Amino acid sequence: MDIKITRAKQLKNKPDESNLGFGHYFTDHMFVMDYTVEQGWHNAQIVPYGPIPMDPASMVLHYAQETFEGLKAYRNHDQILIFRPEMNAKRMIASNERLCMAEVSEELFVEAVEAIVDYEKDWVPSAEGTSLYIRPFCFATEAGVGVHPARAYKFIIILSPVGAYYPEGVNPVKIFVEDEYVRAVVGGTGFAKCGGNYAASIAAQVKAEKMGYTQVLWLDGVHRKYVEEVGTMNAMFVIDDEIVTAPLEGSVLPGVTRDSCIQILKDWGYTISERHLDIDDLMEYAKNGRLKEAFGTGTAAVISPIGELSYKGNVQIINDFKTGELTCKLYDELTGIQWGTKADPYGWVKTVK
Ligand SMILES: *Cc1c(COP(=O)(O)O)cnc(C)c1O
Repeated sequence: MDIKITRAKQLKNKPDESNLGFGHYFTDHMFVMDYTVEQGWHNAQIVPYGPIPMDPASMVLHYAQETFEGLKAYRNHDQILIFRPEMNAKRMIASNERLCMAEVSEELFVEAVEAIVDYEKDWVPSAEGTSLYIRPFCFATEAGVGVHPARAYKFIIILSPVGAYYPEGVNPVKIFVEDEYVRAVVGGTGFAKCGGNYAASIAAQVKAEKMGYTQVLWLDGVHRKYVEEVGTMNAMFVIDDEIVTAPLEGSVLPGVTRDSCIQILKDWGYTISERHLDIDDLMEYAKNGRLKEAFGTGTAAVISPIGELSYKGNVQIINDFKTGELTCKLYDELTGIQWGTKADPYGWVKTVK
C-alpha cells in the first residue's frame, strides 16, 4: 500500500504520563483511507489529526453503518509491540460483513495499524501500565437518505496514549445485572463491534452509574436469564473448579482478551466452559461461596475483577471484594506477554518495525 504522508505543521506537547486517563488525548496524526465501489480502497494517507469534512447526508449519520476496533501498542524500551492485530482485523471483517459494509482486508488493516503506530511511535508512553490505544473505525460516507448499503466508506485510525482504564488501579468493580434493557439477541448485531450496539446500551449504563455501579452485566435478550457480558468486556466466573464464560452464539462480542484468557487458562490446566449460566444460579453460587472469583476481560482494562453483583435487589459480594488469586495471576501473565516482559509462547506479540 502506498501511503501519502502530510506532516503536521506543529506537533502537540505530550501529556503527563502519570495522568493520562483513558481516551482524552490524541496523537499528531491519523491514518485515513477511502472506499468507493468503483475504486475499492484508495487514497491511503497519514495526515494531521483533525476534523473530517462530511456531507450532512452521509449515510452513517442516519443509518449507523459504523464499525470499530480497539487494540493497544506497548513500549518495551525501544521496541513497540502490538497484540494480536490480525484478530482485530478478522473481527472487523465480520462486523463489516454483518453491516453490509466494504471489507478492509486483514493485510490492509494490519499494514495500516503498523504504519500509523510506527509513524507516531514517540507517542507510545513508557510509564508503568500505560500504552497507546489504537482505534480503527469504518463508516459510510455516501450522501443519501435512502436505506441501502452505502457505496462509499472511510477507514480511519486514531491513536490515544492511555493510562490504566480505571484510575483506581486493578480493584474490584461493582456490577449491576440489567434486567430491563437488553443489549443483543441472536440474529442481531451483538457479535459485531459497532457503534449502534453502544448507542442502545447507554441508557443501562447511565442507570447503573446513578446507582453507584461501574458497569452492567447483560443477560440474554430473549429469556433475560443467561449471563452474557459486561458493558465493554466479556465476563468469566470461577465456580468451584470450573471457569465459565458465555458461548459465542451471535449475541456476545468475541473478545481478543477473552480468547487469549481461554488459551492461557487451558494451558494452565483449568477447566474452562463456554456455556450458558443462569443468573439465578450465579447469584446462588455467589451467596453460598461457590463463586470464588469473577472478572471481566477486554483490551481497555485487560482484566477487571468483579467484587459485587446486584440483581433485582439481591446484592452479593464476591471474594470479600478483593481481587482473586487467579484474576491476579491471569492479569500478570497477559500484561507480561503484552509488554514483552514475559515469554510469548503463542506468538501473539508483533514488533512494529
Ligand atoms: C470490544 C468489546 C469487548 C472486548 O473485546 P477485546 O477484543 O477483548 O477488547 C467485549 N465486549 C464488547 C461489547 C466489546 O465492544
